[in-house]
Amino acid sequence: MVMVSFMLKSRRSHLVRFFEDYSLDCILFANLRNIRYLCGFRGSEGALLLTRDAGWFLCDSRYTTQASAEVGEAEVLEFTSKQETLAALVREQGFSRIGFEAAHTTVAFFTTLSSALAGHELVPLGAELDDIRSCKDADELQRLSDVAALSSAALMAIRPLLKPGTRETEIALELELEMRRRGADGRAFDFIVASGVRGSMPHGAASGKVLQAGELVTIDFGAMKDGYHSDETVTVAIGDPDGRQRAIHEIVRTAHDLAIAAVRPGIPCKELDAVARDYIRERGYGDYFGHGLGHGVGLDIHEKPVLSPRGDAVAAEGMVFTIEPGIYIPGFGGVRIEDTVAVTGDGCRVLTAAPKELFIL
Ligand code: ZN
Ligand code: ZN
Repeated sequence: MVMVSFMLKSRRSHLVRFFEDYSLDCILFANLRNIRYLCGFRGSEGALLLTRDAGWFLCDSRYTTQASAEVGEAEVLEFTSKQETLAALVREQGFSRIGFEAAHTTVAFFTTLSSALAGHELVPLGAELDDIRSCKDADELQRLSDVAALSSAALMAIRPLLKPGTRETEIALELELEMRRRGADGRAFDFIVASGVRGSMPHGAASGKVLQAGELVTIDFGAMKDGYHSDETVTVAIGDPDGRQRAIHEIVRTAHDLAIAAVRPGIPCKELDAVARDYIRERGYGDYFGHGLGHGVGLDIHEKPVLSPRGDAVAAEGMVFTIEPGIYIPGFGGVRIEDTVAVTGDGCRVLTAAPKELFIL
């Protein structure tokens, strides 16, 4: 518990600038990912109120026992009405300025709470609050590393299924079963299995289509364990690929390798995006890479930082994000190659492990 206490205190140190910048007495958290990160609670309903050095976790009776075991560095309070209990606590403690997560609070909740707290100031905090989770601590890095290894190993185990005659949905199902056999709590998201011309849809969910010889298949997959996610994509050939398929795969793979080689603390994420995007554009496929280069991965499958031409984040040690360039050509198909990497002191470590060459099955 001493370790947990130290970990939670160091996570909460990321909040100091919000207390200062907005002159807050406390911050109210509604986002369950942020709540889990800051106090350890894993259930599906609750609220967390934090000051600079104290905390209260509020839950209903379903979660009192669980919260007492999981929550660290906060007093557990059971409520029948969340807003009334919160309002009573705020009044009792004499707080006047209360920050809240504007992006994760419904209008209905806000309306009830603000009328219960008439005379107090509710200060909306923007999505920048989610930045507190961008840099992972040692415990998180270990969990992310473990789930990525588990997920990659599951893909390698189902490789014999990647052959003509297999349905896309069968691949998705077997892959999830294999992850669960290896200890995953579930899949990180609905897998993308897009074969042949379906590969031109960057988010082509697995369908009833049957794999055929001569097609490329893009498989975007990940596992979830202990709340943490993994994210990886391979594009494989079913049978012998033709010249164009090989050429496009090679361009995407080179763009992916160049971007990974450029990752280091201090580099703006939009520059990483540009490394891959410029290379694809120079090869004549700029119009066919529409999405951003990557995204953070952690307690959410998509979180900060954003790697895109518009993202303003700067890579920092401890960040975990994907590098996933692609080329998608309507009527032809597509290629995406994705790895999840952890930024180190002088570069990055690739957490996902399935081979990225065009393996031919
Ligand atoms: Zn993915
Ligand atoms: Zn991704």
